[in-house]
Amino acid sequence: MARFYLCGSCTKNFSLNDAQDGYKLGLKQGFLCPFCHTNLIESSESDDISQLKLGYTYVITLCVTMYMLLEYWDEWAFLPMVVGLISIFTIITIPFAWINRSALFGDKVVHTKRLR
Ligand SMILES: [Zn+2]
Repeated sequence: MARFYLCGSCTKNFSLNDAQDGYKLGLKQGFLCPFCHTNLIESSESDDISQLKLGYTYVITLCVTMYMLLEYWDEWAFLPMVVGLISIFTIITIPFAWINRSALFGDKVVHTKRLR
C-alpha cells in the first residue's frame, strides 16, 4: 500500500519521496510540488472519516445505534447485549468498509493545500 500526495494546486499525484523539501529551499513550512512548485502542506488523508463516502453517516449511525441499545440495557442480559452490539456494528461496518475499500485498503492519498 503506497502513499501519494495529491497536489492541491495542479491536482497531480506524486510520491512522498518526490516532494521537494521546503526547508532546504528556505521555506519555513511544508514542501513543494515537483510539478508546479507550489508550497504545500498536508490537509487530510484519503482514509479520514471526512474523506470517506458516507463517513459522517456511518459515525452518526453508530452513535444512534449505541444510544438506542444503551436505552434498553436494563432489559437485556449482558451476553446477548454484547453479542447484539458486535452483530449490529458488524452489519453497519461491512457495507461501509466495502464502499470505501479502495480508500481504506488501497493506496493512501494525502491531500494537500497551498500554504499561501
Ligand atoms: Zn502541483
